[in-house]
Amino acid sequence: KLGAKLESEPEKLNEIARVHLRKEFQTFKMGLSGVNFAIANEGAIWLIENEGNGRMSTTASDIHVAICGIEKIVESFEDASILDALLVPSATGAPITCYNNIITSPRKAGELDGPKEVHIILLDNNRSTMLKDSHFYRALSCIRCGTCLNHCPVYDKIGGHAYLSTYPGPIGEVISPQLFGMRDYGHMVNLCSLCGRCSEVCPVKIPLAELIRDLRSEKVGQGRKNLKNNDGSLRNKQEEYAMNQFAKVATNGNTWRRTLSLANTFAPLAKPFAPLIPGLKNWVAYREFPTLSGNLHKKVSNMKGVIYE
Ligand code: SF4
Repeated sequence: KLGAKLESEPEKLNEIARVHLRKEFQTFKMGLSGVNFAIANEGAIWLIENEGNGRMSTTASDIHVAICGIEKIVESFEDASILDALLVPSATGAPITCYNNIITSPRKAGELDGPKEVHIILLDNNRSTMLKDSHFYRALSCIRCGTCLNHCPVYDKIGGHAYLSTYPGPIGEVISPQLFGMRDYGHMVNLCSLCGRCSEVCPVKIPLAELIRDLRSEKVGQGRKNLKNNDGSLRNKQEEYAMNQFAKVATNGNTWRRTLSLANTFAPLAKPFAPLIPGLKNWVAYREFPTLSGNLHKKVSNMKGVIYE
């Protein structure tokens, strides 16, 4: 797209981006940014970033527009500093970030840099409805460090785009259905194994796994139309059948071991033959078929006394 030579070294890729983006920045009339903290006492906004693109967006053009979720407002610099000390190490493992931009006004007389106008848009988008909820309001404490995403086994496997939302991962599962509606974003609350790692690592102690579980019951209670059967019940018949079959196999030690042993035997055939099987064809078109461990049967037999009986 940029007509650049194909490279894989980070430094070279950075150079390509830098050469291309500098030209773009020079022509833009307006720069957009988010806000990490909006500090009420000083009327300042604080932007934290590692690449310098935020600073370019906020200073290179004549107009800077900052979009700030209302939950980002804190009272003082002291409050913001505490959150900053939690945010950066949780996000990157570094003690401080490369670029801290604290903006208090447009360019003043005599200053060389900065936009001529700064506009701050305070975004509600259902946040005040969340704030009224005595249980789910806790998700508004999120400082967007991303550590719950990095520790989530589901996010690790499927990546951010699969959530089909601006906010992926555990925190996305909690806030997306609330901000944008259960009907369109309810699918996200199923993308969770309830392992609870996210709740353990969150620096602001949001009980994410608990909130995800509670949203699941809310989802069933709301009864999305596409989950309802003709008789008005909420259960998906095929899912119910599959779960019943799985329960029969998984709760009987002998059957479970035999099933794993068969899976182990036939696993090598799965990869070449799966694309020919109608039920699996679409699934494997975009995914690698999982590889089972070669000595799975032996391992499972050894676990017999501990787990199954
Ligand atoms: S929920 Fe917690 S861990 Fe996840 S992004 Fe927000 S602050 Fe970070």
